[in-house]
Amino acid sequence: MLPSREIRSFAKINLYLEIVGKRTDGYHDLITLMCLIDLHDTLRIEFDTPATQVACNHPDVPENESNLAVKAASKFFDAINSRDHISVFIDKKIPVGAGLGGGSSNAAAVLNALNHWYRFPLPRNALMDLGAQIGADVPFFVYGHPALATGIGDRIAAYHHHLPAYPIVLIYPAKPLSTAEVYRKLNFGLTKSKKINRKNTFRHIREQDITCILYNDFEPTAFKINPEIADAKSLLLALGAGGALMSGSGSTVFGIYPDLKDAHNAFANIKGRHPQWEVFISRLRIG
Ligand code: ATP
Repeated sequence: MLPSREIRSFAKINLYLEIVGKRTDGYHDLITLMCLIDLHDTLRIEFDTPATQVACNHPDVPENESNLAVKAASKFFDAINSRDHISVFIDKKIPVGAGLGGGSSNAAAVLNALNHWYRFPLPRNALMDLGAQIGADVPFFVYGHPALATGIGDRIAAYHHHLPAYPIVLIYPAKPLSTAEVYRKLNFGLTKSKKINRKNTFRHIREQDITCILYNDFEPTAFKINPEIADAKSLLLALGAGGALMSGSGSTVFGIYPDLKDAHNAFANIKGRHPQWEVFISRLRIG
């Protein structure tokens, strides 16, 4: 039997996301506070296979070289001048195209697992640089702790304030939102006018009150494309969330709850009212 490992690949949420500028190459510069959450896919990696392969139990995830887990394996083996191969099975629990970074997380999980398996040939910075060649969010997942990201989201700085491990409830309204469409429809002029106030709030964040910094420049555009996202956010707040926000470019929204009991009550209530929505209970991973 070939050697194998089972690893968890966590989702993220953006607690703050501000678009700070449009670049000449068409990408946007942003500043975002990202944190892993407990919701995760499970990857089974088999080493020393004759070819690199991927399989996944979700119909929207490609099972070829466009899968971000395969891209990660190729980049890693190129970087260490190896002709080895792996096989990956992805047990998908993170909704796909939902602003939770599932694909990027899978890529980072493969990079970290391979680096571990081959006894750390690459320092973490080099691994994060490899990740940036796969996708803007991958360096954050390689890093794996709460972080402030700048640039197109690929420049990572440790977030030093303590974040409590708040329970959260996530609603995925079962419709993915195209990141490209959200960027295309973003009214950059409008988002710019709010900047000064927001930056001040952000600088003065206090650990007791994370909910006061929740902010996402993509929300107005996403709410227009799919008003169900705004409904989901309102419902989380009506059911006792201290704050609620859309994650990344959507369409998942999360609510932060003071304790697990409140989160469970909200979860049951939402499942009862909206059986078509995917609802999850999770927690911020602050370590
Ligand atoms: P982004 O904001 O970067 O689009 P997301 O969290 O909204 O991220 P993902 O779940 O990462 O979305 O999926 C985005 C796209 O990437 C999907 O269309 C999917 O087909 C493709 N993809 C490639 N590899 C994977 C993977 N391992 N897991 C999930 N999606 C993947």
